[in-house]
Amino acid sequence: MSEPAVSVARYLATTTAEGPGLRTAIWVQGCSIRCAGCFNPHLFPTEGGVRWSPADLAARVLAEPSTGLTLLGGEPFEQAEALAEVARQVRAGGRSVLTFSGFTHAALRRAAAAGRPGVAGLLAATDLLIAGPFRRDRLDHERPWVGSTNQEFVVLDDRFPDLADWRPGALDRVQVDVDRAGTVSVNGWLDTDRLDALLADL
Ligand code: SF4
Repeated sequence: MSEPAVSVARYLATTTAEGPGLRTAIWVQGCSIRCAGCFNPHLFPTEGGVRWSPADLAARVLAEPSTGLTLLGGEPFEQAEALAEVARQVRAGGRSVLTFSGFTHAALRRAAAAGRPGVAGLLAATDLLIAGPFRRDRLDHERPWVGSTNQEFVVLDDRFPDLADWRPGALDRVQVDVDRAGTVSVNGWLDTDRLDALLADL
């Protein structure tokens, strides 16, 4: 049987907008949750993305000058088995793992208890879980990195105290990259009105 692969929609070598410190960010392709108002609807289909073996992807992350890995999407737990292997190898290299999920922590625990492949493994290899679907009627203007107030910060391992530091001083950030062809890429979190204003200025 072939090794499960990760379907990568976007890879960012370093960013300060997807969790504390300088992090490598991986957006995975595919999300069945389909929250109304999701900023990444192009990541809903499972088709697309570039397939990476967990070992190659972990090696690429460990070659970056970052201090941690952020997994987001798309829905990381819908590729849990392969991402658990990536996360294990990245942690073994001394870096932290922050995983976003549109599933609640309770739902993930139930899935792990039911034996869903990889879910227990990805939870075990995650230091900080940010869990719950995006609710556009409950926008969060207080905490960094999250979109809505229902989303939970769950510290699963306390090896990295900075990961739990989302209170005053841990501000939302947005990163805008423009490549040589003029293509603009944005990551981080900003509500739609402020993002529109920023891009209009650009
Ligand atoms: S879980 Fe995340 S990627 Fe999936 S629809 Fe909701 S906000 Fe979008």
